[in-house]
Amino acid sequence: MAIKNADITPGTEEKELEYLTSREFRDSVQTVRKDKLMLGLMMNFPLTIDRILEHARRLYPHREVITKLPNGEIHRQNYLQTYSRVKRMAKALGTLGVKEGDRVGTFAWNNYQHLELYYAIPGAGAVCHTLNIRLFPEQLTYIINHAEDKVIFIDATLLPLFEPIAGSLKGVEHFVIFNHGSDFKTTLPNVSFYEDLIDASDDDFEWVTKDENSAMGLCYTSGTTGEPKGALYSHRSMVLHTFGINQSSGLGTAETDAVLPVVPQFHAMAWGLPYACLMAGANLVMPGPHLKGPALLDLIDKEKVTVAAGVPSIWTDLYHTMKRCPEVDTSSMRVLMVGGSAMPRALIEAYEKEKGINVLHAWGMTELSPLGTVCHLQSRHQHLSDSEKWDTKACQGTPVFGVETRIVDEENNEQPWDGKAVGELQVRGSWVIRQYYKLEKSESFTDDGWFRTGDVATISPEGYMKLTDRVKDLVKSGGEWISSVELENALMAHDDVLEAAVIAVPDEKWAERPLAVVVRTEQGSVDSEGLRAFLAPNFAKFWLPDRFVFAPQIPKTSVGKFDKKRIRVQVADGTLN
Ligand code: AMP
Repeated sequence: MAIKNADITPGTEEKELEYLTSREFRDSVQTVRKDKLMLGLMMNFPLTIDRILEHARRLYPHREVITKLPNGEIHRQNYLQTYSRVKRMAKALGTLGVKEGDRVGTFAWNNYQHLELYYAIPGAGAVCHTLNIRLFPEQLTYIINHAEDKVIFIDATLLPLFEPIAGSLKGVEHFVIFNHGSDFKTTLPNVSFYEDLIDASDDDFEWVTKDENSAMGLCYTSGTTGEPKGALYSHRSMVLHTFGINQSSGLGTAETDAVLPVVPQFHAMAWGLPYACLMAGANLVMPGPHLKGPALLDLIDKEKVTVAAGVPSIWTDLYHTMKRCPEVDTSSMRVLMVGGSAMPRALIEAYEKEKGINVLHAWGMTELSPLGTVCHLQSRHQHLSDSEKWDTKACQGTPVFGVETRIVDEENNEQPWDGKAVGELQVRGSWVIRQYYKLEKSESFTDDGWFRTGDVATISPEGYMKLTDRVKDLVKSGGEWISSVELENALMAHDDVLEAAVIAVPDEKWAERPLAVVVRTEQGSVDSEGLRAFLAPNFAKFWLPDRFVFAPQIPKTSVGKFDKKRIRVQVADGTLN
């Protein structure tokens, strides 16, 4: 029976694919085409991820992925070796029962095995679901079960975080371990070892995916309200995103680059750099678990890194390390790419003036694969004074080709690009989400085909977007989300607490940290230490508020909600302290 467009419900990729490849679909397209259009006569060559790896094998076999292993040693492997290992692993996935469309999880640091999985899983026709190692156990369990992961690859160094949730996972059939020592032990069932699978396999394997619209990657956003939501990337969207990154108005990655993604591979697919580098022939320098300033500085020096990418807190730490170690050579660096949170203007200035490193401020979202805008100065900016230059560079920048932006008011009326009008930022484009995984309805999408980002921004006449706020009030600490609502709910469960509101306060190191304003009950006497101890068993350590302000009441809006805007102002001016 032919499947109709109306039959397609979210999360039913097989049905959708069946429809897209059905006679009915082709006929309907052809009818329109015959009547109205003259078709171009170019090949309909599918944009699949395996093409990037094939390209790297042929043109850049000698270029390398360089990994700092957990024990501090450096592991090197060129793209020819990587190609062969990817093929072996893709074939091995079949022996584990992985079929087209299955979700396969990864729980790992940035390293060469994780890179291989970025190609092997989609190459086998499956979906690479990167799991955030910093998630709280309940969230991790939720997303694994929601995605119905069949196999999960785990970095042995992270097993203590993973083993406690294994009992609550519903459909996982195999766990594959890498980076383990000889004395390795685990409580996980059905365990295989990565290198054993590679050894037992061979590279006589044909890439499975033929349709560029097939899903290849899955990343969950940390939910603002409710559960985390999945962004399901297709081969086509990811290949186009890779072109987007490699444009000169993006990152302009080149064969001469050595790129250090400090951004984790579980955060929006390391901003697509594992694909961008192989397409461009750039070396990839993977830091493993070594993310502190001194370790990064050492990698930059030894591997002659030209581009490093990460959230602002990483660059604050690196900057202070550079200041302490002026003798270390960082002259290879051409670009510091920063996104995830706003990069402080003073830090952009310091890097450029003191170190001669061009800071590229970028904005993106998991829902955008993630690249949206990048801030490059253009020829028209040559006349700018230094101060105007830093102001411009602190903006989130202009959209890369492939993404379009607009700002709208509360009634969804488009606002002018005058640098003054403030509105909700909306985007559309070839690598922008059109629907969340298994979620048919969402207010995130407008009727006229745009994605609501939840960010609030201005856009200058030249197209430079500047984020001014967030619609929602999440706290973003060191690039990771902290839900103010979850903390509030937990605090208000304490017997001594009447009300609690959590806001983000600016922080030099982490960009933002949570601050809790607490109203005690009449007899309540709990103090900051007591509340921190109360929260500790249920939250990751970095979620715990650094400061608690005890107040007689919390400002509220006309409909009785916490007025976070006013709370922020009052905390900043000391009225609430
Ligand atoms: P995520 O999906 O976790 O990457 O988070 C996306 C959100 O991070 C965006 O909606 C913004 O609120 C925030 N964000 C990303 N890049 C920037 C930036 N350059 N400046 C300020 N906020 C940013």
